[in-house]
Amino acid sequence: MSNLVLSSPLKGWIAPLDETPDAVFAERMLGDGLAIDPLGSTLHAPCDARVISVHGTRHAVTLRADNGAEILMHVGLDTVGLGGEGFEVHVADGQAVKSGDRLISFDLDLLSQRARSLITPIVITNPDAFKIIRRAQDHAALVGDFLMELAPVNGAVVTSTVAVGEVSREVVVPLQHGIHARPAARIAESARKFAAEVAVVVVNRRASAKSPIGMMSLAIRHGDRISIVASGPDADYAVIAIVELIEGGMGESAALPPTAEPVSVEAVRPAHPAEPGLLRGVMAAPGLAIGQAVRFVSTDIIVAEVGAGMGFERRALEDALALVRAKLEKAASKGDTARKAILGAHLAFLEDPELSASAHRLIAEGKSAGFAWRRAVGGYVEALRGLGDRRLAERVDDLIDLERQVLRALTGEEDDARVLPPGAILLADELLPSQLMGVEASQVAGFCTAKGGPTSHVAILAAAMGIPAIVAVGAGVLDVAEGTGLILDAESGSLRIAPDATQLAAAQTAIAARHERKAAAKAAAHQESRTADGVRIEVFGNVGSLNDALAAAANGAEGSGLLRTEFLFLERETPPDEDEQARQYQAIASALDGRPLIIRTLDVGGDKAAPYLPIPAEENPALGLRGVRVSLWRPHLLKTQLRAILRVKPLGQCKIMIPMIASLDELRAVRALLDETKREMGITERVQLGVMIETPAAAITADLLAAEADFLSIGTNDLTQYVLAMDRGNPELAARIDALHPAVLRMIAQTCAGAAKHHCWVGVCGGLASDLVAVPVLLGLGVTELSATAATLPEVKALVRILDISACQALARQALDLTSPEAVRDLCKAFAAQVLKVGA
Ligand code: PEP
Ligand code: MG
Repeated sequence: MSNLVLSSPLKGWIAPLDETPDAVFAERMLGDGLAIDPLGSTLHAPCDARVISVHGTRHAVTLRADNGAEILMHVGLDTVGLGGEGFEVHVADGQAVKSGDRLISFDLDLLSQRARSLITPIVITNPDAFKIIRRAQDHAALVGDFLMELAPVNGAVVTSTVAVGEVSREVVVPLQHGIHARPAARIAESARKFAAEVAVVVVNRRASAKSPIGMMSLAIRHGDRISIVASGPDADYAVIAIVELIEGGMGESAALPPTAEPVSVEAVRPAHPAEPGLLRGVMAAPGLAIGQAVRFVSTDIIVAEVGAGMGFERRALEDALALVRAKLEKAASKGDTARKAILGAHLAFLEDPELSASAHRLIAEGKSAGFAWRRAVGGYVEALRGLGDRRLAERVDDLIDLERQVLRALTGEEDDARVLPPGAILLADELLPSQLMGVEASQVAGFCTAKGGPTSHVAILAAAMGIPAIVAVGAGVLDVAEGTGLILDAESGSLRIAPDATQLAAAQTAIAARHERKAAAKAAAHQESRTADGVRIEVFGNVGSLNDALAAAANGAEGSGLLRTEFLFLERETPPDEDEQARQYQAIASALDGRPLIIRTLDVGGDKAAPYLPIPAEENPALGLRGVRVSLWRPHLLKTQLRAILRVKPLGQCKIMIPMIASLDELRAVRALLDETKREMGITERVQLGVMIETPAAAITADLLAAEADFLSIGTNDLTQYVLAMDRGNPELAARIDALHPAVLRMIAQTCAGAAKHHCWVGVCGGLASDLVAVPVLLGLGVTELSATAATLPEVKALVRILDISACQALARQALDLTSPEAVRDLCKAFAAQVLKVGA
C-alpha cells in the first residue's frame, strides 16, 4: 500500500476536525480527518476511487481509494433531516470516479437556512489502516488544492469485503435460521427508532436495516459474518443496538451448524410409490376429511401500466396502503395467537420503507400505483424465490397476499369470497393466508395445494382453524375436476381422488369412530382418572396463560402439571415485578379452583429469549445458560418469582418445579433460596419442590434427585433433544426426533426406577403425555401423572380408564427391547388399536 494524497473536494475554508460542532466528528468517533466550511456547492472526488455508498438522503458519500483508504464526506450537520431536499447526486454506488469528478451538488442557500451547520467533515473511516501524515492548515482552498496525505499503518490489513458507511461493526449471525422474516421484522423495528440510516451488509450486498423484506432478500444464514453500517446523528447507538439484538439471538440461536444445503419441498415430501387415484403431499394441518373438490382459483387483477399523474398515483397508493393497514390492524386485534402473529408479519411487510420507496420510484417514472406496487412486490418475490431457502421462499405467499390486498384496495375489487358447497376440499396452486382467513372454518372440510410448505403461514393458520390440509402435492392436484369426491388424510399426506365405495365407507367409519370417541371422552372428561384395574393416574393440563388454565379446567384437568411461567417474561422489555406475577399466578390458581398447580420457575435461554436478560452470545445456546442455570445466574429474578408464588392462596395448592436440572447441587441451591424466602416472608407451611427430568444427567441420577425432590416430572421435549442430540426446533430433523425412541424410553424407565427407591412420584409434562399412542407405555414404565395439552385431556382420560396396568407393563418391557422409534410406535399403535378396538 502506498501513500495517498487527497485534494480538497470542496471550495471552502479548511479547519481542524475539532471545530466541527458535533461530538461524533470532533471526538473522531468515526475517524480522523478535516472539516471544510463550504463556499462552493459541489462536492468532488478527492482522489481516484470507487463509490461505496451514497446515502439514501443524498447528503453524504463514502469512497474507497484504490489503496483501500475509506473516505467519508458528510455535507453539513444534521442534513439527514432534510430527507434529500436540496441535494443532487451525480454518482451511484459501486461507480468508479476520478479525482475531481462531481459527486454531490447542493443548494447552499437552502442548507444555510435549514441545516444545523454547513461544516463538512472529511473523515478517514478506517483509521486502523491509514493515518494522516500531513494535513492542510486553516486556510481557504479551491477544489483540487492539497487537503491531506495518508500513509498506511504498518502491518495493517485493509479489509475491503464490507461496504463500510460511516460507523460499522461486524457480527456473526447466531440465529439458527439466519435473518428470516421474524428477526428481520425485529431488526427493522429497532432500526426505525434511530434517525440514522442503518444498513446490513453481507459480502458486497446491502439492504436497509429498516426494511424487513430487503434484509430477507440478502438470505443471511446462520454463521454468516455481516456488518451493520450506519450514518447519521445517532449512528453509533444504532449500530450497537442492532449488533446486540443480533448477538442476543432473538430466541433463535442455533445449537447446530446451519443446514449445508437448502432443502426443497421435494425433499420433505415423503417418497412413496405412485398409486393411481392417490396424490401425495406433506401434512400442513392434521385431520381426516371426506368431501368434494372445489377449485380455488384467484382471479387476475388487471392494472394499467401508465399512471394518471404522479400526484394522483402517489395519493392512490398511500390511500390503498392505509386501507389495507387499517384492515389488518382491525383483524389483528381479535382472533387467536396464530392469526395475530401472521397479521403482524403482514403489517411489518406493509410498513417496509423499501417496498413503498421502490413503488414510489416507479410512480415517479410515470407508472400507475397498481403497476408500481405489483412491480415492487414482484422484485422481492423473485429475490426470495431465487434464494434456494425453503423458509424464505414460504414467505413469498405473504408478499403475494399483500400484493393482492393492496391491488384490490386500489381497484376497489371485491374479495375472492364465494359460497362454498358443503364438504368443500379446496384445491389450489397456492392458497394465501388472507384467503383462508376469509372463509369460515365450518365451510371448509380441508385443503390441498400444489405448492406451499409445511411451515408456511397458511399451514399454521389451517392448524389453528382445525382444517386438515396437505401442501406440496404437485401440479396433479390442479387436474382434479370440480366436484370430484375426495378423501383427505392429512396425517398420511394423501389425497384420494374419486374413492370407491369401500374406501369411502372405511373413511366414514374412521371419521365416525373419531367423532364418537371424542364426544364420549368429552362427556366423561370430568370423571376421576383411574385405570381399569384401579390405579390412580392424575391427568393434568399444561398451562401457559390464564386462558389455557380455563380451557384445561373445562376439559377435565385434575390440576396443572406444568405452568410455563415464561409467558409472563417473554416479548417484553423488562421482567414482570412481584405484584404482577403474584396476580397472574393467583388468577391461574383460582381458575383451577383448588386443584393442584405445579408452577415451573422461569425457563428462559436456549430457544426462549428475554430481551432484558443479557445472556452473552453462545456457540450452543441449547447447551448454555437456560432454565435453572439462568435462575442461579440471576438469583434476584428467582427470588422475586418465589416470593410471588408464595403469595398464592391457598399456598397448599401450589408446588414448585425447577427446569433443566443437571445436578443435585442446583436443586439444593434453589431449595436454600426457597427456605430463605419463606423465612423472610414468615411462611412455615411446607411447599413441595420438584425437578424436571430433561437432561440425560438428571435421568441417570434420578435416584439421587428423588432422595431430595418431592416429585420428578419428565420433560420429554428436551429430554429427547438431549438424548438424541437432535435440535427440537430443526424442521429437517422433525420426522426423526421421536420421543418413543428406545433410548428415551430407557431414560424414562431409569427415572422411574430411581424415583421408586425413594417413593417419589414421576410425571410426564412433555409432549409425549399428549400423544395417545404413547400413554400406555408411559404408564407401563411407572409414570403416575400425565400433564397434557388442554385439547387432548378428555381423550387421555378416556384412554387411561380402559387401560390395565399389567398389560401396560408388558408393553413397556417389549418396547424397551426394540431397536428403533418406528418399531416402538408400531407396537404402541397396535396396542392402542387393540384396546380401542379400532384399526391401527
Ligand atoms: C419439555 O422439555 O418437555 C418441557 C415440558 O419443557 P418445554 O417444552 O417448556 O421446554
Ligand atoms: Mg423443556
